[in-house]
Order: sequence, then structure tokens, then C-alpha cells
Amino acid sequence: MCPGCYRSDYDSYCRLCLRAMFDGVKVSHVLMFDAPKADNFPDYQEKTKRLSISGVQLKYSLRLEGKQLKLVETGGQYILKPIPPTALIVNTDQAPENEHLTMQIASQLCRIRTAANALIYFKDGTPAYITRRFDVNADGSKSLQEDMAQISGRTKHTSGENFKYEGTYEEIGQLIRKHVAAYPPALESFFRLVLFNYLFSNGDAHLKNFSLIRTEMGDYVLTPAYDLMSTVLHTPGEHDTALDLYAGYLDAGFYGTYGFLGQPNFRELGEKIGIQEVRMKRIITQLLSIQNEVLQMIDQSFLSQNIKEKYIAAYKDKIRRMGMTKEMIAKAINPEFPSVYAPTDQPTKLIFRDGSIKVGYFQHTADIDKLEKENKYTFIEYKNKGKEDPFTIIEGDQLSEVEYPSLP
Ligand SMILES: [Zn+2]
Repeated sequence: MCPGCYRSDYDSYCRLCLRAMFDGVKVSHVLMFDAPKADNFPDYQEKTKRLSISGVQLKYSLRLEGKQLKLVETGGQYILKPIPPTALIVNTDQAPENEHLTMQIASQLCRIRTAANALIYFKDGTPAYITRRFDVNADGSKSLQEDMAQISGRTKHTSGENFKYEGTYEEIGQLIRKHVAAYPPALESFFRLVLFNYLFSNGDAHLKNFSLIRTEMGDYVLTPAYDLMSTVLHTPGEHDTALDLYAGYLDAGFYGTYGFLGQPNFRELGEKIGIQEVRMKRIITQLLSIQNEVLQMIDQSFLSQNIKEKYIAAYKDKIRRMGMTKEMIAKAINPEFPSVYAPTDQPTKLIFRDGSIKVGYFQHTADIDKLEKENKYTFIEYKNKGKEDPFTIIEGDQLSEVEYPSLP
């Protein structure tokens, strides 16, 4: 299996990974040296008050010389992250593959543009995560890159030790709108990434993990995504998100009721940063509709069995919190018509997040456009058929599964 993309029938990097990582140079997936002793190299990490995986990861610079990757102090083209040498967080030996797997799920399954990356091994066989720097150009020059802490003017001096955990994702959206010329697609990519981070339990997506980079034309674009991993596997007590989604959601609405983020919170974020409704719903549907592919990729990854199970449990929990969209409901009823869910002529069984079940059929009413906007649908339970007002309002945000036709 290719240690870059998991493609089978390879015992080293496949041709596509060699091209993306090393411009086609046949680099071995085993380095010529052992893992550096942690005290021999500078620790570039910032110390924050918050215990995070990014705060304990060591990063080394590599350069490609001929076919060999060499450790360098300056002029690096790659970043190498070995197993973090710390007892402060758990499951550290799984960190390189966690990051690699999460980045591969993002790029291969979730339509997220990511930094090129792979798993690589030291001479002694221990794994490390390797990623190509996207700010270093072919001629060795560097593009100007600024992260959202810099762009929002937050530093240790202005905002204290925890400065990179200040602000909200909504605020990052506003900064993208302000600084990126082609901001509509950039906002959609950003929204997709924020939702991805939630679904894959990346609780460390702070201000410095979102950046803009200057192009040759002199304008700014979003950088590819980087530093994606399921951080909850290493810091189990963490918050679900590194930043608040937007101001004020904690006490009201869906979060206020259930104590966790659900689809209404993401719809509201999308609306606040100005994403077209139909496009936002498409992004949500796409990210929620690839569960089989995701589970398959986790299964074929290099994670240990125990951590695979934890990774999957965290993912399924988040999926369950998000409910279903109209397209998901319609697809469950008839995959050939992924936008039509009513009327159904056979029994439809709805299974909700809390385990409750309703059986009946969807039927439109005059209010349908208004309701669908809020991900709500009109349904007639068989037990209410024939009553004066037989309709039940179904909240897609609460649905786990639609079974059609429902077997008795
Ligand atoms: Zn590959």
C-alpha cells in the first residue's frame, strides 16, 4: 500500500504521490537517518496555556538533495513531524498517522485542497508525518503567507498567551471577505473546512491554522489546508472547536438546548458569512454523505486497531449530531431523484437521534418552502391519518435514518 495515499499494490510511494510530494523524484519512504533526539533541535513550538497536540509536536525542516531527504536548519522544503516526545498527551505514537489519515480523508473524500503529505519512516522504523511546504516556490523563493492571528492583529502582546484561541470562525469569514478578491469560493472552502474539523473532531483549528498567501499576481488566496487531525484522540477532554462558531450561540437555539453543535449552528454560520443557501446545503450534504468511504479509509489506514475504533466512534458521534438534509432524506427514498421526498406510496420509517421512531409518509403542505428553509418537513403518521390535522413536523436536524420502503 502506498504510504502516501493508501493506493494498493505499491510497496512505496505511488507515482501520483511522488509527483505531488517530490516532483516525480523517486524518494524512498524510509529516511536515511533515525529520529532526531528532541534536545538536539530547536523547539519552535509556542507555549500556550492550553494543552494541545500542536503545542507538543516537534517540527523539523527537510530539503530534498538528489533522491535524499536531509535535515536542515534553514531553506527547508518539507516539514517533518515525528511522534511527539511527551507524556502530557495520550496516544502520541499514533499522532503521525492520525494527521496523515485525516489529511487524506480531507483531500480524497471531502474535496478539501490540502498540503501534499505522506507517512514516512525513520531508519529505525518509527513513523513520522511529512508535508510539503506550499509557501516555498520551485526556484526556492518564498511566498508571503499570513495566518489569521497576524491578519486580525492578535499577538501574545495584544491578546495574551492564548491569543490564537481568541475570535470566532465567523470573524475569519469576514477577514476572508475583506482580503480575498475572489472571496465567494474561498468562503465556501473555509465553511467546508470548519464543518470538516467538527466532523473529524479537530478541536485545535485555531487562528494560526487558517492562512492567506500572496499569489504571483499580488492578490491573496486561501492556502491549502494543513495541520488537520482528530485531536480528541490525544487530548480527550478538549472543547469540540478551538474557536467559537459565532458570538452568542452557546446560550440559545440548538446548542443551548442540546449542549453540542448541530446542523442549525452551521447553517447560521454559513448565513452569517454570506454563503448562498443552496451551495451551503450542498456542502453539508456532501460531507455527511460519504460515511462508507470514510469508514473504509480509516479501516485501511496505519492506525492501531484500538485507535481506529476510537477515531470511528468520535466521527459517528459527530455525524449523528448533524441529522440529515433534504437531499439525504430524498436519496434514502429514491436515489434516482435526490431532491424529491414526497409523496411516498409505501411506508416510510423515520428513526431519530433519540431513538424514537415514526412510521407514515411525507406529504407536502402549502408551508413547505418556508419549512424546508429550516430543514423541516411535513409527515403523516399512520396513527394520525384521517384526523382533522394529521400533520407532524419532522426536523431533519434530529433525523438519523430514513428507511424506505419500511419493512413490517
Ligand atoms: Zn500514493
